[in-house]
Amino acid sequence: MKTLYVRIIVMTMVIMVCSSIIAFIVSNVYYHYYLKTENDQKMTNIARNIVDVYEENDDRNIQQYLNSMTDLGYQFYLVNEAGEGKMYGDSFRETYISEDVIQMVIDGHIYHGIAEYPWKLFVTGFFSNELKNTVGTPLTIQGETYALFARQSTSQQFGEMRIFLVLLLVLLLLFSFLMVLISTRFIVKPIQRLTEATKKIAAGNYHIKLKNNRHDEIGRLADHFSMMSDSLGKTEEKRQTFVSNVSHEIQSPLTSIQGFSQALREEELSEGDRSYYLSIIEKESRRLSLLSKQLLTLSFLDGHAEQVDQLAYQVRDQLKEVIATTKWSWREKDIAIELNVSPDLEITGDPKLLHQVWLNLMTNAIRYNKEGGSIVIEAVDHDKHIDIHFTDEGIGMDEAELTNIFDRFYIVDKARTRTKTSTGLGLAITKKIIELHKGTIMVESKRDQGSTFVVSLPKHA
Ligand code: ADP
Repeated sequence: MKTLYVRIIVMTMVIMVCSSIIAFIVSNVYYHYYLKTENDQKMTNIARNIVDVYEENDDRNIQQYLNSMTDLGYQFYLVNEAGEGKMYGDSFRETYISEDVIQMVIDGHIYHGIAEYPWKLFVTGFFSNELKNTVGTPLTIQGETYALFARQSTSQQFGEMRIFLVLLLVLLLLFSFLMVLISTRFIVKPIQRLTEATKKIAAGNYHIKLKNNRHDEIGRLADHFSMMSDSLGKTEEKRQTFVSNVSHEIQSPLTSIQGFSQALREEELSEGDRSYYLSIIEKESRRLSLLSKQLLTLSFLDGHAEQVDQLAYQVRDQLKEVIATTKWSWREKDIAIELNVSPDLEITGDPKLLHQVWLNLMTNAIRYNKEGGSIVIEAVDHDKHIDIHFTDEGIGMDEAELTNIFDRFYIVDKARTRTKTSTGLGLAITKKIIELHKGTIMVESKRDQGSTFVVSLPKHA
């Protein structure tokens, strides 16, 4: 049983055979407990009538009389006290009947052989053509009492009916089997297609189009499979872009460091140039260090979602800490800071990770702000969540730029020329941390007017 196809067909055959056996046994039991006595009663009445009709005029030839009765679909065994008997009609397959029974009938009793026929699992008493399976009545022929055993001749009464039923049953089984053979193909085909598709995915081909016009479980499986392969394809594309971005981001500072360190070897270099080259090397190595730190943070966040703490703490203190840490940068640009957060306001989350979020937003608000601008940090307490706003008066962004700023390595080009410490990972990390807290981050921005980043964190009970 190697294939699903063969397995289903074999299973169907087994089911069909088992059902037939069970159906046979159940009807046999039904015959035994309900139909057998009715059948016996019916046969007793018929036998009595046959005897009565004959005894009304027993001058008739009994042989002719019984032979004419066999044409109506009965079979008989007529026997006298001495045990001399003769069969009429179809012969019995089993002809044994005890002498006691014969004597009992001759003595005037009725023999209910059909009702007394023993229960056998695989033999239907109804069709059992045995002398024991008859009704016996006394019959008087010109003063001498005989025993007349009678039963319906199944071959005569049900001959055509039997062929009809057998034909019906055989054709039923045959056609059911053929139908199963054909319909199984419809079940197995899509699974075979799915298996082929799985192999393609394993080989790295994610662009799979599965033909599917079914709406059942297999149809849904195929739909979900297509969705899964699409999403795997996108993840793979993202992974490739990420790797090439990482390589590029590492390669450019390294090239720059190599170039400037070679230039430093030249002997006739002015002190001013030497110190300029060294400052570039220092900046580039800082950028590399920042990049590797951010990449480590991202990989930690991607793989340790369950390690996010859920502590309730006052956010104002943390924001004040961030303002203090970045004091040197905002003072240098003469930026005014306003903090509108109530000292009692508590948020729930991982303080270390959320510190990173505020620091990233604050660094950007300073970095992309204008000289002498301002930064407003405020918190709004809603029913189910708390919003923290970071509003700056910086360079702002266009609609088109806004859609990508949370992507890894995305840097708005103009901004890139302004600063060498950009990596394009800050907001990607920020968004990831907020998602791990089941929160959201949104941004509103206008070119040359400024931006507002809104972090929305759910309140926990
Ligand atoms: P970066 O290290 O370049 O700041 P981020 O992921 O933090 O990386 O930001 C992505 C890009 O979004 C930045 O390059 C910048 O162009 C833009 N951006 C982020 N914050 C602001 C802001 N407050 N004002 C204007 N542009 C911003």
